[in-house]
Amino acid sequence: LRVNFSVIQKDSGFVNGLIAVLHDITEQEKIDMERREFVANVSHELRTPLTTMRSYLEALAEGAWKDEEIAPVFLQTTQTETERMIRLVNDLLQLSKMDSTDYRLSKEWVDFPIFFNRIIDRFEFTKNQNVTFIRRIPKDAIFVEIDEDKVTQVLDNIISNAMKYSPEGGRITFQVKQEESRITISVSDEGVGIPKDNLTKIFDRFYRVDRARSRKLGGTGLGLAIAKEMVTAHGGEIWAESVEGKGTTISFTLPYDAAEDDWS
Ligand code: ADP
Repeated sequence: LRVNFSVIQKDSGFVNGLIAVLHDITEQEKIDMERREFVANVSHELRTPLTTMRSYLEALAEGAWKDEEIAPVFLQTTQTETERMIRLVNDLLQLSKMDSTDYRLSKEWVDFPIFFNRIIDRFEFTKNQNVTFIRRIPKDAIFVEIDEDKVTQVLDNIISNAMKYSPEGGRITFQVKQEESRITISVSDEGVGIPKDNLTKIFDRFYRVDRARSRKLGGTGLGLAIAKEMVTAHGGEIWAESVEGKGTTISFTLPYDAAEDDWS
């Protein structure tokens, strides 16, 4: 519902009336509005790297290519921007695949602790920053029926954010909690945190708390939106908790059946 107010005011400044017009925004209008906003966002996200690249390429063409110091820097920037665009387009394709009606998960039974540890190992082996990983993951098997590729992407997006926003020497804690009908997976960091008002918005497409910082860190603003779609497709939920300046925890749930898992 949208409400427009008009004040009826005499030349003397005396207010003698108020007109309120109520507009009921239909579902279709809302979808149209979101679509327009999405296209505008995508265009903006693509235009920024493209205009950057154009300036650098122009400079190179006008003679900067001969400068042994400047040329490699300019080429490097063009390359970084190209890579960002590739990431962006891949993320967009991923989202559009999920939006289509024939979107299906290919689920398999997976022992979650083993699966999760393997993903964390990958980050641990390849990390090139000083962060400590703490694993609070049950040793026993917990079988869940999931699409491995999709949940891998959810975790990749969450963990790479935790790394991006972690300070030097920070700790990242990985946790799995098992309940009767679901498991809760959480990743906590000791980074900058997220202001309270933005905690739900970070799952919106293209929403970033700090646009400049996200860009600098190579973000597309789509990682958590993709994670949310994938978690929802599994019948789970995803949310964020954070204390500014202290750190952030991103958690999500996956359906689990304790009775079914009781093989003994
Ligand atoms: P991006 O590509 O910008 O990281 P995401 O969708 O992954 O996009 O995240 C959206 C925004 O949420 C980020 O730009 C950042 O502002 C915020 N955010 C996500 N994870 C964290 C975190 N662990 N700590 C602080 N801010 C975060």
